[in-house]
Amino acid sequence: MREQVSSLILLKQKATIAMALSLANDKSLALKVKNRDIEQDYYKQLIQNLTQDTLYKNIWIQLFDRDINTLYRSWSQKRGDNLSKIRTDLQETVKNKKVVYSISAAKFNLSLKAIVPLFVKDEFVGIIEVISHFNSITKELQKSNIDSVVVLDKEYTSRLEEPFTKLFIGEYYIANFDAPEELREKMQRDGVESYFTKDCKIVDNMIVGSYELKGADGTLFGHYVMFKKIDNLSNLDLDYFMFKWLTFGIVFVMSIAILGIMLLFFANRRQKEYFHNIINSSTNIVIVSDSKNILDANKVFFKYFSRYKTLQEFKENHKSISEFFVVEDEYLKVLTNGVNWVKYVVQNPKDVHKIKLDIFGKTHCFSIGAAKLFSTREQYSIILSDITEQEIYKKELELLSTTDELTKTGNRRYFERKLKDEISRARRYNYSFSLIMFDIDHFKIVNDKHGHAIGDEVLIEYSKLVNSHLREADVFCRVGGEEFMIILPYTPKHDAKEIAQKLRIVIEAYKKVVPITMSFGVVEFEKSDDFEAIYKRVDDALYKAKESGRNMVVVE
Ligand code: GH3
Ligand code: MG
Ligand code: MG
Repeated sequence: MREQVSSLILLKQKATIAMALSLANDKSLALKVKNRDIEQDYYKQLIQNLTQDTLYKNIWIQLFDRDINTLYRSWSQKRGDNLSKIRTDLQETVKNKKVVYSISAAKFNLSLKAIVPLFVKDEFVGIIEVISHFNSITKELQKSNIDSVVVLDKEYTSRLEEPFTKLFIGEYYIANFDAPEELREKMQRDGVESYFTKDCKIVDNMIVGSYELKGADGTLFGHYVMFKKIDNLSNLDLDYFMFKWLTFGIVFVMSIAILGIMLLFFANRRQKEYFHNIINSSTNIVIVSDSKNILDANKVFFKYFSRYKTLQEFKENHKSISEFFVVEDEYLKVLTNGVNWVKYVVQNPKDVHKIKLDIFGKTHCFSIGAAKLFSTREQYSIILSDITEQEIYKKELELLSTTDELTKTGNRRYFERKLKDEISRARRYNYSFSLIMFDIDHFKIVNDKHGHAIGDEVLIEYSKLVNSHLREADVFCRVGGEEFMIILPYTPKHDAKEIAQKLRIVIEAYKKVVPITMSFGVVEFEKSDDFEAIYKRVDDALYKAKESGRNMVVVE
């Protein structure tokens, strides 16, 4: 519709120009203008001829001298007034000596104008203006069942001295006679400006479009509003209309979808970056794993596995960090109680878990925390904090707290712990062990005779001697000044007696520092024994050995 209107307006402007040009070409006209000698009747007749022979039933002519004083008006006797102040389009013609065609609002109407300069030889002498209206355009459009309402913008309404059509919608002047009353009422009801839309819209079963009417300098004078009943739409129109909206709809929906996807993509990327930055800011190793394979790892991971620059490189050579596990009592194994180590940590969050890794010859201990990332997916975050130094320090402390400083055997605290462990183990697994207690004979005399320092040396030397005759599983401790204990796991008392006898003999035969002998008590664990009971029984056995003359073994 809009294209139709715009081409009709252009066509009419061109026709008006053609008329103006053909009149301007009449040399006698230019001469008459120069001489200000205009015959009124000659032009009246000319216009009558034009309107008879063309579609355009309303045409007006106006002639001006070079200073824009009117010399002739085809619709009025009035002349001699100067329009240079009010008509910018005429000023432009004077200035540029060029043809101007425009839409403009004047005293009477909103009209189409063609303005042509007049010359006598090369001298600019005046202007001819041909004025036409929109009526022929509206008539032409009616043939395509399009009704028109040509609206003058309301700021120009007050300038109308004699409105040509005398039609108004509120303050808006309607420039075409044939604007249907029903449409004018509708526009009044809905507000005229709501019809000045760039896009087509549907109002009460009609497609409505509007076209801006602008002057030569771009000034907006009014709107050409078109109405077409949907019943009257040709299939082609309807198809075009549907196609346009459908295309617009699809493009709109697709744009929103693409925008959404892009936003999601960037949000996702930003979130990933965000989390990656967080895990990279950690001083611990952070790994994402499906419990067997590593899926992601932070920078710290590569400080330890410095042989590899990327996770891909690591994965080409290793499946999991469990390949580096050192199997030791306190540390997790790949399977702990039959459960994968990662899952085991997740299932026992309150316990302290540790792993020991041998990474290309260097040992590291880590405390480990793990959490499941998704309820539906097997993905875990694993955090490993390096506790190697603490572990070394702890081992040293443990050794210090369980070792007798003088003889480097286990101390009394260590003995008590070990004996209690052994009792509960023996009870649980229903096996036996034996206990040997021994004491240096007449040690007071050694001290008295050789001095305390020599006494100490005796303690050191003979402890070493005893230790060298024991098995690895045996626990050898100094429980008092010169009293010792040996716990012998899986050993019945007759075997323990033999061991005690052997020790007694090697001690007697040793004779280093100062020759000494020792007395031994031997007992085997009994089901009724607790710590105090077995301690008392072995102490009694030793006492009996002392009582019976020393340097002997008594088995109870
Ligand atoms: P018995 O044959 O009855 O055991 O006689 P004994 O002299 O060895 O008597 P007892 O076992 O009661 O003696 C303990 C002595 O051991 C007391 C002390 O002089 C000595 N003694 C205890 N601890 C140490 C020590 O750390 N260094 C030294 N040099 N002597 C110690
Ligand atoms: Mg003694
Ligand atoms: Mg003693």
